[in-house]
Amino acid sequence: MCAAVSVKSDSSPTILVDECLHLSFLDLDLEPSFHASLLGGLLYALQNVPHSVPATIVCPATYLGSVFVTNRSTYENNALDPNFPIIKSIIAHLQERSARTRFKVAKFTGLHDANSSDYLSISLDTQPDLMFSSPGILLSVGSQRLFTKMIVTMKRHSSRKSTISNLDRTRHCVNDEFNFYPSDTMIWRSLRSTDINRLTRNFLWKCMHETFHVGTFWDNVPNLRHLAYCQACAVPDTMEHIALECNAPGQKIIWSLCEKIWNLRYPLWPELHWGLILGCGLPRFRTNRGNRLRAKERFFTILVSASIHLIWKLRNERVLEGKNLTDAEIENRWFSMINSALKRDQTLTNKARFGSLAKTKQIVLETWSGVLQNEHALPDDWTQSKGVLVGIWPTTRRTGVG
Ligand SMILES: [Zn+2]
Repeated sequence: MCAAVSVKSDSSPTILVDECLHLSFLDLDLEPSFHASLLGGLLYALQNVPHSVPATIVCPATYLGSVFVTNRSTYENNALDPNFPIIKSIIAHLQERSARTRFKVAKFTGLHDANSSDYLSISLDTQPDLMFSSPGILLSVGSQRLFTKMIVTMKRHSSRKSTISNLDRTRHCVNDEFNFYPSDTMIWRSLRSTDINRLTRNFLWKCMHETFHVGTFWDNVPNLRHLAYCQACAVPDTMEHIALECNAPGQKIIWSLCEKIWNLRYPLWPELHWGLILGCGLPRFRTNRGNRLRAKERFFTILVSASIHLIWKLRNERVLEGKNLTDAEIENRWFSMINSALKRDQTLTNKARFGSLAKTKQIVLETWSGVLQNEHALPDDWTQSKGVLVGIWPTTRRTGVG
């Protein structure tokens, strides 16, 4: 399916996105159509334009304006529309944007020739962000006919073998550590926890389905079979190897930083296994009386999910882009990541913006208490303060000014 996308900045003549795309969907089986390609192009644009920059979506047809402006309530509640999943995902992105978004109908200029080979191949992830998507269809808008048709057309998806195996590994590892067996539903729900940021949620979801091109995937690709092996360790490459065993700089440093920051407040850092990493949204820490320690659980979830995602990004930079980062650079990347997670948590306390999905100030303060830099000098409620940072410094930090 092909799409042309052009998005311009409102405040300046800058063109934010201007591409011809060859689209496929990671998690959807959509019939190629003109409307689906327009929606796919728009979703790609929204995933790549910063939320805080005003933007004008330029489209060669009135369709997008009709779906997202004039007839939005009809489209966002019509689950029988074949494009419904992608419309839902786009609405979540539009709701996440803090700057103005305008739709404009115009012929494209300056784009590549539609028949040229300049098309960018993109696999789109259409999972909507739970923080910004509506959970279902309004009863007041749907009719009995609509709901009956939805139930009749609901299909049971067959599960992949690797997914079933990963769900089982998660279940057993979680039980080993926290003494309970989570159901499949609990595991899937934990992967969509709003304690984890959107891109990391998508990453963990793909890990559970093993959709990444790692290891045995390359066994049947002529001339590229060597990619089935880890270049640094000369053993078969797997996500588990990358996450926990690889000798290339990255995972060891990152997990030791996790343990270090954890130990600032809690004595025992759990021994990580691949199943526990996949189940990082399911920790159960309890007091001696059996009460759950929610802040400790959140901190574990945030720490492990963000760290494994960073390990994966660093591995890709090394393998695909040939970047060899020093230990100090890896530590700095981890600090920057953990401080972004802290800042995200501060933002999530904004009730005006997130409504009932906002996190309480109390849980955010409690989650990070004990691990902040100069914590004694911070106000009691630092959720609105700028420049709050975690309080351990890289051990091999480069010396110098700045
Ligand atoms: Zn390795």
